[in-house]
Amino acid sequence: MNYNQILVEIYQEISLYAGVGEPATYIPELCKVDPDSYGICLRTMRGTEYFMGDSDVRFSIQSISKVFSMAMGFSFEGEKLWRRIGVEPSGSAFNSIIQLEIEKGIPRNPLINAGALVMTDVLLSHLENPEEEYLEFVRRLSGTTDIQYNERIAASEREHGYLNAAIANMLKYYGNIKNDIERVLMFYFRQCSIMMSCRELSRAFVPFADHSHAFRFGNVSLTSSQVKRMNAIMQTCGFYDEAGEFSFLVGLPGKSGVGGGIAAICPRKYAVAVWSPRLNKKGNSVMGMKALELLTTKTEVSIF
Ligand code: GLN
Repeated sequence: MNYNQILVEIYQEISLYAGVGEPATYIPELCKVDPDSYGICLRTMRGTEYFMGDSDVRFSIQSISKVFSMAMGFSFEGEKLWRRIGVEPSGSAFNSIIQLEIEKGIPRNPLINAGALVMTDVLLSHLENPEEEYLEFVRRLSGTTDIQYNERIAASEREHGYLNAAIANMLKYYGNIKNDIERVLMFYFRQCSIMMSCRELSRAFVPFADHSHAFRFGNVSLTSSQVKRMNAIMQTCGFYDEAGEFSFLVGLPGKSGVGGGIAAICPRKYAVAVWSPRLNKKGNSVMGMKALELLTTKTEVSIF
């Protein structure tokens, strides 16, 4: 497969969408990036990397971190995790609170905010030094030693995070958060603030694409069946109320974030990460979605 050529063609074709959408404004610090940045990196199972544009520029991974949190939580709790968090697509916005009341404090899945807040609570109950151990896991996954939280972005989100605070309070009311709410929120915002480049993200997602190998990174280990389940959750829930659309147009398990990043995997073939900060109304990167749609169209390979 001539991935280099395909990445060039994709870049030419998505330029039609340049300037469409807006970066996330509800986290003021996130708007301090060049909205017209674009980077992509595809890493095959053999370790060959194909990249273009701003593929080495670090950006705030935001909700892509929910995949890392899910891997840790699933490793620590096993099946009993699913008593506190469901595995159904929500069909609602990432920060919706309505469903949570109707369903009595059990979030639909781990990849919406409510689910990630419960997962963060699970991690706090298991980890001695949560922030350090979380970072250590992400560093091991991506084979990088200097990945960091962006404290300015985390603080900016805390300052404006009224909705996430409301969700956390409701979870606490229903008994689905055990730790202090403020502690949960701050750890959650730090996870979202992690800065990674497309090259680092594509490396970090390779282990999810390859469940024939043992998934073992420090104190986090998953069986191949657990990795397969995480893929299923990414496929059905990774894009909130656009998960169906992403399945329809792209056909890969993946996860987006309001920083404009998307990471996706083609099982047993490659992991890919794309970044472009302008978002559509659902909070997903306009050019990122289009680039991945073109990737699976041009390669004629998806999970379907
Ligand atoms: N930190 C963001 C929030 O909680 C993450 C949302 C996202 O990337 N979709 O609102």
